[in-house]
Amino acid sequence: MKITDVRTILLTAPIPPERRWRSDLGTNTKFNLAIVVVETDEGIIGYGEAKGEALAMKTIVEHRLKPALVGEDPTRVEYLWEKLYSGSRLGLALKYGRPYHGHNLRGEVLCAISGVDVALWDIFGKSLGVPIYKLLGGGIRSRVRAYGSGGWAPPGKAGAELAGYAEKGFTAVKMRVGGLDDEDFPNRSIARLREVRETLGPKIDIMMDAHGALTVIQATQLARAAEEFRISWFEEPVIAADDLRGMVEVRQRTTIPIATGENQQTRFEFQEILDARAADVLQPDIAIAGGITETRRIADLAYARGIVVAPHNWGSAILWAASVQFAAATANCIILEFCQAYNPLLYDLVTTPIAVAKDGYVDVPTGPGLGIELQPDLEKKYPFEGD
Ligand SMILES: [Mg+2]
Repeated sequence: MKITDVRTILLTAPIPPERRWRSDLGTNTKFNLAIVVVETDEGIIGYGEAKGEALAMKTIVEHRLKPALVGEDPTRVEYLWEKLYSGSRLGLALKYGRPYHGHNLRGEVLCAISGVDVALWDIFGKSLGVPIYKLLGGGIRSRVRAYGSGGWAPPGKAGAELAGYAEKGFTAVKMRVGGLDDEDFPNRSIARLREVRETLGPKIDIMMDAHGALTVIQATQLARAAEEFRISWFEEPVIAADDLRGMVEVRQRTTIPIATGENQQTRFEFQEILDARAADVLQPDIAIAGGITETRRIADLAYARGIVVAPHNWGSAILWAASVQFAAATANCIILEFCQAYNPLLYDLVTTPIAVAKDGYVDVPTGPGLGIELQPDLEKKYPFEGD
């Protein structure tokens, strides 16, 4: 089998005004999506999601990455990862057993490589008629625990918002704190946390996410006040990429586990977090960090140190499926994010179900590759409106 074409499908799903949500990151008015499509001479087509800016993904995939892929055997997934990463120095990389970082490789280029990697795993599975988790060692679990992720509502509504997730079946939920409560920080965040814990009772796990919006002192104040609410993790108290020492300081000052990683890429950046002992939970995003191939390496590094992974999973049904396949096969992946925002590209992109069971678990799709079927005519349903 040979790769014949590599291209992107760009989509936009507008968010109607009544379904929008606001956080310190702004108000979301639409979801954009760049799907990487890898075609083969046997008619098997693989799909991946690349989480960079959509037009940048199109340019990088179709102009920088495609020439290295056409004519290659798509089932040589790890070889092609090395080829895309090391570029013209692939020969040196394979001779000396280490990657050769090319020019301008991080950021958007790594997002594009991530999308290609997932599409290649999808083809590999489809070519053998097995789900991806079978190729990753056979599978650790047939169901994956998921947590309902959202939680932007103001005081007075926060408890009902998170209780809505629990009513769907989730036994763990995550809410946003920090920057969106800036008008009265930390009191507003603490009031919302108290309301959510009192509404949910003692049995539901609660996580909190600050989007890296706090200083070390602010994060410490919030963490210490939140300890009484039994918070399962404090996500991105500060920005790991800019202040890893600060994250270590926060971790040392609280008993709440620290989670981070949705903005990090490659095993090298995650190794820095592990070496610094900055986090208890790593959250690589498969569509950002380097695809399934690199996220497995990240998980193995963490596993050696007793650290768990909980993939960041905020995107379309393609990222959802890749994350579920990864979680099914990875021993130290104990829980997965499940976006609770209005997101038609998660629920309506595919003909296969995207749902959590009443006990808080998702069933792992057992169909070939990613185990999902895309709806027809996606570009007509969700015409791209630009970045
Ligand atoms: Mg987050």
